[in-house]
Amino acid sequence: MSSFWTEKIKSLNPYIPGEQPQDKKYIKLNTNENPYPPSPKAISAMQAEVNADLRLYPDPNGSRLKNALAENYGLKPDQVFVGNGSDEVLALAFQGYFTDGRSLAFADITYSFYQVYAKLYDIEPKLVPLTESLDIDPKDYQGLEVAGIVIANPNAPTGKALSLKAVETILKANADVVVLVDEAYIDFGADSAVSLIDKYPNLLVVQTLSKSRSLAGIRVGYALGQAHLIEGLERLKNSFNSYPIDRIALAGATEAVKDDDYLKLITSQLISTRQQTIQQMEALGFDVVPSASNFIFVTHPDQPAEALYLALKHKGILVRYFGDKPRIGNYLRISIGTDQEMVVLLDTLSQQ
Ligand code: PMP
Repeated sequence: MSSFWTEKIKSLNPYIPGEQPQDKKYIKLNTNENPYPPSPKAISAMQAEVNADLRLYPDPNGSRLKNALAENYGLKPDQVFVGNGSDEVLALAFQGYFTDGRSLAFADITYSFYQVYAKLYDIEPKLVPLTESLDIDPKDYQGLEVAGIVIANPNAPTGKALSLKAVETILKANADVVVLVDEAYIDFGADSAVSLIDKYPNLLVVQTLSKSRSLAGIRVGYALGQAHLIEGLERLKNSFNSYPIDRIALAGATEAVKDDDYLKLITSQLISTRQQTIQQMEALGFDVVPSASNFIFVTHPDQPAEALYLALKHKGILVRYFGDKPRIGNYLRISIGTDQEMVVLLDTLSQQ
């Protein structure tokens, strides 16, 4: 606390994305990072960029990356916005599209950052509970009279996917406000709403290179939508930091986006590891929520989540425990690692 802090600063509860203890080497299954390295082409491009000309500012339009993303998704470059991780893209979208005084609807439970941004930008959250089976029900998103809607698909931390039909129902029922679909985990098995962009002027899709493309370390996220929504984000971004991302990130991200063969290779490996892990966790008596993500959301009828989390941590395995959130306190969220990491996890759990 500082005497210089404003009421705004005092009111904030910064979100810490995941613990990173330094006392020993952990198997890190707590922040949904990809256990595999990024595309070798992306790594070479970043190495080359280091030896090129870092003296110079990056391209203020990030054109190479925007072109690569546009081509990948069958869009035009002016339908693509790029930022420092999808967290920054989300922050700008919240600030730009959801601050008209009405509230913003999102699920309870969903990605915790939405609460953080709502607080930061004085947006009143309108929490829409998940169903008993932890699903988002599009019927709950009708007639809300809100400034906008944010849906994570697949949702986090449940990992559950929403059908494109359900996304479309929400878009139609809220045609006068922006519906932001956060697709951070889309490449692990759900259907992307990108195919709906030309039909719905109120749709903003946000994705990231942090998960399926293994590039959490360079912080690149992007938004896809009709040009008028993208232009709004550009106006905001260029008003305080006109460089979308740095030169090294631009170089690596562009090659990563072009390397779909590598994306398919590692996502199919992770999906197969996930399905195997689910079966084995169920055999150990866990209830596992069906996952379309690179993580699973699990609970055990007899073993408290906190005890399991602590026992795993003691043995050098970090998973996400939600002790700070009573509603989901008895669940653990476990990122899918390599097959070898999952063997260690399951061995350790079987000894509890
Ligand atoms: N959306 C969701 C649902 C997430 O879980 C995360 C990361 N944990 C993000 C967005 C942000 O990812 P990044 O800033 O790394 O792109």
